[in-house]
Amino acid sequence: MFIYEFKVYPKASQIVAIEEAIRTAQFVRNKVLRFWMDNRGVGKTEMFRYNTLLRKEFKFVDDLNSHACQTAVERVLRAVNRFYDNCKKQIPGKKGYPKFKKHSRSVEYKVSGWKLSDSRKHIAFIDKKGIGNLKLIGSRDLNFYQINQIKRVRILRRADGYYVQFSVQLDPRDTVEPIIPSQKAVGVDLGIKYFFADSLGNIEPNPQFYRRGEQQLNRLNRKKSKKFRRGKPQSKNYHRARRRGAIKHLKVSRQREEFAKRVALRLIKSNDLVAYEDLNVKGMVKNRRLSKSISDAGWSTFRRWLEYFGYKYGKVTIAVAPHNTSQNCSNCGEKVQKSLSTRTHVCPHCNYVEDRDINAAINILQKGLSTQGHWESYKLGEFDPLALVGAILLS
Ligand SMILES: [Zn+2]
Repeated sequence: MFIYEFKVYPKASQIVAIEEAIRTAQFVRNKVLRFWMDNRGVGKTEMFRYNTLLRKEFKFVDDLNSHACQTAVERVLRAVNRFYDNCKKQIPGKKGYPKFKKHSRSVEYKVSGWKLSDSRKHIAFIDKKGIGNLKLIGSRDLNFYQINQIKRVRILRRADGYYVQFSVQLDPRDTVEPIIPSQKAVGVDLGIKYFFADSLGNIEPNPQFYRRGEQQLNRLNRKKSKKFRRGKPQSKNYHRARRRGAIKHLKVSRQREEFAKRVALRLIKSNDLVAYEDLNVKGMVKNRRLSKSISDAGWSTFRRWLEYFGYKYGKVTIAVAPHNTSQNCSNCGEKVQKSLSTRTHVCPHCNYVEDRDINAAINILQKGLSTQGHWESYKLGEFDPLALVGAILLS
């Protein structure tokens, strides 16, 4: 599944209609969730039946395209199933009990309720919400695809305006030329001091915007909280500060995406196997004290691109458990305890000396090549909001 995104500039009346459609989808979602909470044990069929009832009862629900209502129900189903799964797997900590949505940002259509113009540069939403015609602004050309390859269309509000996204059914492998094997394998250690260090001794420094962006975000956040008024409606100045913060956030996340994508592509193209730490392990605290929200987010973005390109180019990506990768000696395997501030690994057993992170990267590669890692593959098909920011950059 590929996501192509276009900017749109709706008129004031169209914005009202879009917001109305978003609110309706949220209303259906919350109503169906309430229905599930009040009637434990109801399944898919009952939920969809309840949706039909809602359409009969409320005119504004009936005005929204029926498939768009269905996707709202599917959202609830996904959340419920994820919750049940977490309970079944007995994952420690929170199980993710489904929550009501208060600030939805999008509405999602399937294959009906919209129509592309002949040139495919305009889209018209043709349900009774009255959104009407929108000009699609972007570099992608939808003429490359069959209409039946477009499985979902979504209208999305971001801090800097409205977007229309198309989810196109296409396997990334279909568009790729076979590449010559590099005959190399690499382990990477994601760090605080650098973005990562690899087992060949290379270091990828943190990009400038990481620190700068973090500082700016903190400053904007402070400004916002100064203007916050407890228990009162918020002032114009508060909302202005909030919008500034949101736009900056969007900018930083786009830069992060671009950076992660570039680095991941390079790593995948120059190696046949990439091993990295499985930082998603629940309950694991990795240098909590030092970790920065922005690098955490950067790592998961990086990993997603790594697995995506691995899939696309037929390379192997392996996630390994991060335990002891920085403590053990990569030369003799003995455990060499060191604090976070010790930057160099010096082994008293075999006299091996190496940069702390490079030593860790070698351990990660060794784990990856042994049976301790688990093979990760990019998962096709989900219309995942996380995957969306990146998809703009695929063009
Ligand atoms: Zn040693």
